[in-house]
Amino acid sequence: MRILSINTGGSSFKYQLFDMETETAIAGGNCERIGEEGSFITHVCKKSDSTESRLVVHQYFKTHDDAFAKMLELLLDQQHGAIRDVSEISAVGHRVVQGANIYSAPTLVNDEVVLNIEKLSSLAPIHNAVCATAIRACMGVFKAIPEVAVFDSQFHATIPDYAYLYGLPYEYYERYGVRKYGFHGISNKYVNQQCCELVGKDQATLRVICCHLGNGCSVTAISGGKSIDTSMGFTPADGLLMGTRCGSIDPGCAGYLMQKEGLSYEQLDELLSKKSGYLGVSGGCSSDSRKVVAAAEAGDRLAALVLRMQSYQVKKYIGGYTAAMNGLDMLVFTGGIGENSHVTRELVCADLDFFSLWLDKDLNRQHAMGSRCVSKKGSKDIWIIPTNEELVIARETKQLLWPQ
Ligand code: ADP
Repeated sequence: MRILSINTGGSSFKYQLFDMETETAIAGGNCERIGEEGSFITHVCKKSDSTESRLVVHQYFKTHDDAFAKMLELLLDQQHGAIRDVSEISAVGHRVVQGANIYSAPTLVNDEVVLNIEKLSSLAPIHNAVCATAIRACMGVFKAIPEVAVFDSQFHATIPDYAYLYGLPYEYYERYGVRKYGFHGISNKYVNQQCCELVGKDQATLRVICCHLGNGCSVTAISGGKSIDTSMGFTPADGLLMGTRCGSIDPGCAGYLMQKEGLSYEQLDELLSKKSGYLGVSGGCSSDSRKVVAAAEAGDRLAALVLRMQSYQVKKYIGGYTAAMNGLDMLVFTGGIGENSHVTRELVCADLDFFSLWLDKDLNRQHAMGSRCVSKKGSKDIWIIPTNEELVIARETKQLLWPQ
């Protein structure tokens, strides 16, 4: 059985085609800059255990429809493809960021589901609308093949009410569903499963803090395999400062800035979601951590400051969630920054002696692939675990359509 997983971002998507008998990716890739000049797909196809073909196709993809049609062409390509006929794909699974109180489990896609995903855009402005566009485009390309939506918010359905409610009048929760939902749940689920395998412990007894640091950033407390709290909230803009998102701010700032700058609601949203975070605090340096780190190392004060701010925020979540779980067994870093930036990991883990967390600086700086432990002997476990959201999407898709 082959399942195609699709993970759509603002103007990009990642894909992997899995052979579900072995759970290995037989082809995959990513498409960037959809709708811009300079859009391209990087496509990789596994030829054997040790060889693969890699192809970069530079082509203007005006829409997601164009890009998905090209992806299918590449999957079917005689030289670089992995299948001979589209019917070899049993199902397509999609990552959808926000399911809110409508979807708390993977769902077979139809027109109504896509419409609901689109309607939830106001709760995940950067993500849901583009997910709906991507699913519609795939329905056009893959026609009769079943498509499944797997929601990032579903892993956090276990968060208790005292943690997910805000201190607003209760009627707004009842009337509009205003509460913390949480995101990055697909990644959290993968990381938690890996943790159990890596340390050989039953998940029922494991307390994990997962720092997913990428363009979007979150910290999640997972106790006994269940999310009990997470830093993102009603929307993925809450919690930590991120590439372009401001994270938690005093709610009073919003109205004050609207007044002072004469901003409309849309302009305020743009400011908080697209012009803040690394990009905003660094004075426009970049939203990309690699560039911010390079600028900081070259002496840029604001670049150094924003890195310090973010790692201080992560550190406070680690403290708070250790208290919430009454202890901690594993601290995990994942996501593009979590997996690759030794600078951020070092800043976060400095002075955590009280929690018996000691990072091994040499191990932390070593470039290596795969999951690895980077804590000193005697410390609680600190791990880097590369996330694999696409594999979880494929597993959940299979489980929904062909339950075992
Ligand atoms: P998304 O949240 O869109 O999935 P990613 O998880 O891919 O994002 O993370 C993107 C971030 O990871 C960017 O800030 C990028 O700079 C950072 N990143 C990727 N590779 C490296 C690296 N080798 N060193 C430091 N940061 C990296």
